[in-house]
Amino acid sequence: CGIVAYIGPKEAYPVILKGLKRLEYRGYDSSGVALQNGDLRVYKKKGKVAELEESLVGKDLHSNIGIGHTRWATHGEPCDRNAHPHMSNDGRLAMIHNGIIENYAQIKSELLKKGYTFTSDTDTEVLLNFIQDIQQNNNCGLEEAVRIALKRVVGAYVIVLMDKDNPDTLIAARKGSPLVIGVGKGEHFLASDASPIIEYTKEVVYVNDYELAVIKADELILKNLGNEKITPYITKLDMEL
Ligand code: GLU
Repeated sequence: CGIVAYIGPKEAYPVILKGLKRLEYRGYDSSGVALQNGDLRVYKKKGKVAELEESLVGKDLHSNIGIGHTRWATHGEPCDRNAHPHMSNDGRLAMIHNGIIENYAQIKSELLKKGYTFTSDTDTEVLLNFIQDIQQNNNCGLEEAVRIALKRVVGAYVIVLMDKDNPDTLIAARKGSPLVIGVGKGEHFLASDASPIIEYTKEVVYVNDYELAVIKADELILKNLGNEKITPYITKLDMEL
């Protein structure tokens, strides 16, 4: 299972697709991408990354921001519907997740009482709608809502979110699952390990547990869950392709 994301001047889809292929060795049962060109669009499919690619031939995939995922099912069978990215009920947020949200059942029952609906059987879709709900109730920004949600979550995760209303920003966080951010010139690459990043930049930041990143093409802000800024520590990769 793995995640890849991109923000910057390049076409996001080819970068993400190639990255997902580089992460195939980690094992997975389905894959998907979210892209934004006016609308937020999600494409996902059970099976190999090549099958996702095949299903997207001829589609307009233009986007300078995107998230991609290979799934290893833990909650819900492998199928198109359970593949990531997932969309929030309001259609505004798309999210990918590797890991497990252990207390998802309790959060899900709270959300069901509030009228939320679910199109998948995943713990991921529960966390995503929980984030949407917190944002609505607190009338706060997405970053703040993610922070509040993660304080209540038990489990392991790396998550990356796209927001239809903020197409110049990615939000990512991790605890227990790996996240590497590649720092390019006016662009950023996110991945589960450095293999999808190395051909574009040798400068990377290894995100630590309980850290949240707000990523724009030309800006990377790292914070802890207490909303304090952390100076990103840039490591130089010396591995070759
Ligand atoms: N728990 C999530 C799911 O079953 C994520 C699995 C993964 O790490 O790929 O969809």
